[in-house]
Amino acid sequence: MLRYHKFKDENGDDVYRVESEGYEILRNSILNKGSAFPLEERKLFNLDGYLPSVASTLETQVARRYEGFTQKTSDLEKYIYLRALQDRNETLFYALLLEHLDEMVPIVYTPTVGLACQMFSHIFRFTRGIFLFPDNIDRVEDIFQSFPDRKNIEMIVVTDSEGILGIGDQGIGGMGIPVGKSSLYVAAAGIHPANCLPVTLDVGTNNEELLNDPLYLGIRRERLSGDEYFDFVDKFVKGVKEKFPNAILQWEDFSKQNAFTLLQRYRNEIPSFNDDIQGTGAVTFAGIIGALKIKGEKLTDQLFAVFGAGAGGIGVARQIRTALIGKGLSKDEAGARIYVLDRMGVVFEGRERVDEYKREFSRSADFARGWSLDNPREVSLLDVARNAGISVLAGFSGVAGSFSEEIVRAMAEKVDRPVIFPLSNPTDKTEATPEDIYRWTDGKAIVSAGSPFTDVHYKGKVYVIGQGNNVYIFPGIGLGAILVGAKIITDEMFTAAGTKLAELVSKDWLDANCVYPPISELRTLCRGVAAEVAETAIEQGVAGKTVAPDMIDELVESRMWVPKYARLTRGSV
Ligand code: NAD
Repeated sequence: MLRYHKFKDENGDDVYRVESEGYEILRNSILNKGSAFPLEERKLFNLDGYLPSVASTLETQVARRYEGFTQKTSDLEKYIYLRALQDRNETLFYALLLEHLDEMVPIVYTPTVGLACQMFSHIFRFTRGIFLFPDNIDRVEDIFQSFPDRKNIEMIVVTDSEGILGIGDQGIGGMGIPVGKSSLYVAAAGIHPANCLPVTLDVGTNNEELLNDPLYLGIRRERLSGDEYFDFVDKFVKGVKEKFPNAILQWEDFSKQNAFTLLQRYRNEIPSFNDDIQGTGAVTFAGIIGALKIKGEKLTDQLFAVFGAGAGGIGVARQIRTALIGKGLSKDEAGARIYVLDRMGVVFEGRERVDEYKREFSRSADFARGWSLDNPREVSLLDVARNAGISVLAGFSGVAGSFSEEIVRAMAEKVDRPVIFPLSNPTDKTEATPEDIYRWTDGKAIVSAGSPFTDVHYKGKVYVIGQGNNVYIFPGIGLGAILVGAKIITDEMFTAAGTKLAELVSKDWLDANCVYPPISELRTLCRGVAAEVAETAIEQGVAGKTVAPDMIDELVESRMWVPKYARLTRGSV
C-alpha cells in the first residue's frame, strides 16, 4: 500500500514524505500532480516516461481543465467530469473550483448534486468515502482503523439518504451529498481534502424504483427501522468516537423524524450538528438581520411566520427564538413571536396530529380568538397574514406557489416592508418567485430565495436576489469548531455564525435589497464566520484546546489549505 505522511517545512509549507515510487503515485489523488510533476520529482520517484515531456504549471492545468469543463453540454456531464478530476488530482480540482466558484458550486453541490444522487448507481466511476451497511457495521472499527491518515480526519459528513434535498429517499445514491459537502468544506473553509470524510449509512431504501433498478449499488431491502436502525447508528457513532477522535460530525439529509432524534441523542456526546436544521436556521437568520438593516428595524419588533415545519422550518424557528432570547426575551415571549405552520396550518395546543418535534412551537389553544377565519378548525397562512400582521415570512414547505398573491398582499397591507423568503428548493418548488413578490408589494418587500434567481427589474430599480445557501454557514461552523477542538457545538455558535455573516454583507448589496453576499466571496466569508464561531466556543467554555482569543484570526488564516502542489520527498513513513 502506498504510504505517505504530511508535514510542514521550515517555511510552513506542506511537504509529503512518500515511501513508494512509480506509477502508483500518479494514481493517488492527494499526491498526484499529473503533467505538473516537476522534472526533479519525476526522477526522484521514477516517473520518467509516464508523463508527457513538458511539465505544466498548475495555472495551465486549470486552464486546460476549464476548457474541458465548458465543452460538456449538460450539468450532469459537468458533474461527472469534475468528480473524475477530483478522484485523479485533488489539488487541481480545488484550484479549478476556487477559480470558478459561482459557476461550479451549483454543479458540485445543489442543484446538480440532486440529479447526481438519483443517478448514482448509473454514473458510479470510482469510490470515495466509507459505505456502512448491515453486513459490515459490526466491523466498523476495523474499517475506520485502516482508513488512510485516520488520525487527521477532522470533518465527517454522514447521511442515511432518507431525506435527500427535496427528492427524498435515494438509498445509497445519497452519498453524493456527503461527497459534495466535503468538497465545500475544502473549497470554503480550506480544510485539507484528506481530512474530510464522507460516509453513507446504507440501511436500505423504501424507494421502489431503486429496488427494481438492476444497476442499483445499495443493499436491496427496505430500510432498517426502530431499534435495529438506532443500534446501527449507535455502532457508527461509537466507531467515530473511538477511531476519529479529532473529528466534528455533521448529520446530513436524514428524514426529519430521525434528524431531530439523532441530533438530540448525540449532540452532547460527540461534537456534532445537523446542517438541515441548524445551518438552515443560521443562514436564514443572517438574511433576516440583513433585511432588518435595510428596514432599519429591530429583531424584537418583528412577528415571524415559518411555513413548513420540517427540519429547515423548525431549525429556523429555533434559531429565531435563540436570538430573541439573546436579546432579553423569555423563552415564552420569544416563542409567542413565531407562528409555525405545517400542512394543517398553525401548530397549536390541542390540534390533531402534531409531531413531537413541532410541539415546542405550539401556540395556546385560543391564540386566534377574535380573528376572522375562513375555517376555524385550521388557521392558514392567509389567516395569519390578515390577522396577526406578520413582518417576516420564511418558506420551507416545498410547495410551489404557496405564497399566493392574496397572502403576500395581505402581509403588505399590515406592514410597510414585509420580509419574504421563499426558501424551498429546487427552483420549481419555490413558494413564490421573487419577481411576483416585488410586483405584488410594489417593490416594498425584501426578498431572498433558496434557489438562484436572476435580478428583478421593477419600476426602474434593480433588485438582486440573494440565495440563502447553507454553504455560507456550515464550513465556518466546522472550521471554527476544529480550531478550538470544540467538545460540543452549541446553538449560540450558530447565532454567532449568522450574525457574522450578516455583518459581512456589503452596503452595496444591501442597497440592492440583497441580504446575502456573492458565492465568489466564500473563502473570505468563511474566515470571518469561523473566527466568530471559535471565539463563541471559547466564551462558552466548550473549547477543548487553549487558544488565545486575539490569536484566532491568525490561526484561521494559517489553517486554511490553499490548493497548490506540495513538495514530495522520499523517505520511510
Ligand atoms: P422537510 O421534509 O423536513 O419539511 C417540509 C415540511 O413542509 C414538512 O414538515 C411538511 O409537513 C411541510 N409541508 C408540506 N406541505 C405543506 C403545506 N401545504 N403547507 C405547509 N407545510 C407543508 O424538508 P426540509 O429539509 O425542511 O426542506 C423543506 C424545503 O426547504 C425544501 O424545499 C428544501 O430544499 C428547502 N430548504 C432550503 C434551505 C435553504 O435555502 N438554505 C435549507 C433547507 C431546506
